[in-house]
Amino acid sequence: MTALIKEPSFRECVDLMFNRAVALMDLPPGLEEKIRVCNATYTVRFGVRLRGQIHTFTGYRSVHSEHMEPVKGGIRYAMAVNQDEVEALAALMTYKCALVEAPFGGSKGGLRIDPREWDEHELEQITRRFAYELAKRDLINPSQNVPAPDMGTGEREMAWIADQYRRMNTTDINSRACVTGKPVNAGGIQGRTEATGRGVQYALQEFFRHPEDINAAGLSGTLDGKRVIVQGLGNVGYHAAKFLSEEDGAIITGIIERDGALFDEKGINVDAVRDWIVKHGGVTGYPDAAHHAEGAIVLEQDCDILIPAALEGVINMGNAARIKAPLIIEAANGPITAGADDVLREKGTVIIPDMYANAGGVTVSYFEWVKNLSHIRFGRMGRRQEEASHQLIVDELERLSSDRDLGWTLTPGFKQKYLKGAGELELVRSGLDDTMRAAYQSMREVWHARDDVKDLRTAAYLVAIEKVAGSYRALGL
Ligand code: NAD
Repeated sequence: MTALIKEPSFRECVDLMFNRAVALMDLPPGLEEKIRVCNATYTVRFGVRLRGQIHTFTGYRSVHSEHMEPVKGGIRYAMAVNQDEVEALAALMTYKCALVEAPFGGSKGGLRIDPREWDEHELEQITRRFAYELAKRDLINPSQNVPAPDMGTGEREMAWIADQYRRMNTTDINSRACVTGKPVNAGGIQGRTEATGRGVQYALQEFFRHPEDINAAGLSGTLDGKRVIVQGLGNVGYHAAKFLSEEDGAIITGIIERDGALFDEKGINVDAVRDWIVKHGGVTGYPDAAHHAEGAIVLEQDCDILIPAALEGVINMGNAARIKAPLIIEAANGPITAGADDVLREKGTVIIPDMYANAGGVTVSYFEWVKNLSHIRFGRMGRRQEEASHQLIVDELERLSSDRDLGWTLTPGFKQKYLKGAGELELVRSGLDDTMRAAYQSMREVWHARDDVKDLRTAAYLVAIEKVAGSYRALGL
């Protein structure tokens, strides 16, 4: 639903939230402004000959902070892309990377295009040309600026970008590290496609390990049986909803998409809806749940956890007061406007903020970038050695139990599980889980330790800005 009240833009919202946090800090004069502003935004306009005529496209790449390089951030394909939006998203990337200790500055890109209007071959031509324009200005470069997928893009687009960069830099041995989120057979890493949704799951698992935090949201127990509404069943929303329902026992009661929403208190099968969307282009007509033509209304339904995973500004001054969920996890970037954030905080809603909640993507992107630079798959050196040393222990346990007739045997399944050394996927999940736990703990420590910090978002900004400020201090600024 569009807000009737005039609200600040997305970038202004990010600045307002930033300002709220720095007011509680003691930064040297001028450093606050240095951190807040976006360093540069490049606009490119280029033509591509398609369907017998030249079409002109507008794209952006914004670099928010270069306190660490390369800078990192996704490329979005959507008609709503504009300079204000990419600058807001680039700023969020700076804080996100700092919070989860991914050694990057913040950047973001966007192309004003509706990807559904073009066929695959046309999209490839457009993407390659956009990549060319960015790469020739070092706005794609393994050591300076490394894009990734975002709304409207995925591993297919990242593979085209990587290939375009390689064609332009034929002797760069690290060319694959120029972009992340690539398919595994083109230099990607296992677990990247699902990483942001997986990170949302790990974030909620960590939240539910802290009784004090569960209480703060007025909830109790575990994730099991919690009623969840998700908006946007794309990459992030689909994986988050799938993992939470299949592995943690959560019940997906609502799914909101572009063409309306599905609702069923008994739970909705996420994979069945995803298959339906792929086949029919939307949720309309899905037979096993009630359909609401005005999807955004379902944001206001009673539930335990609300996961906005589509786009920014969907919870705004127009609907904030009617949002019933006691816990909101911002899987999308900027789904809650600054004004709505005030209303929700006043009501006691606990918000797990975007800069933390969707950081799983950049975390696994960081692993992919390291893999590309080291030119070796994670686990390749150690896996068999780990299995061999586990085998020694299992053999010894089995010998002891049979030699001395101790009367015990190994639990069924133990041997098989214990003997399996960690491959790339297991290591990626372990690294992601560790990152999400550590970052949550750093936020909640500030949230609970300081009387003047009332919410997780302010805590997240405090932790992130302190880290960015530390980098600037180390540079002598
Ligand atoms: P996506 O394009 O894969 O999916 C977006 C989904 O939202 C689609 O299913 C689309 O139909 C739906 N949608 C669009 N407009 C909608 C509307 N008005 N109401 C309801 N649904 C709508 O995009 P994604 O990669 O899943 O990104 C979603 C959000 O997550 C964005 O805010 C993005 O910045 C953020 N994010 C993505 C990643 C990533 O790794 N892909 C990482 C961090 C953050």
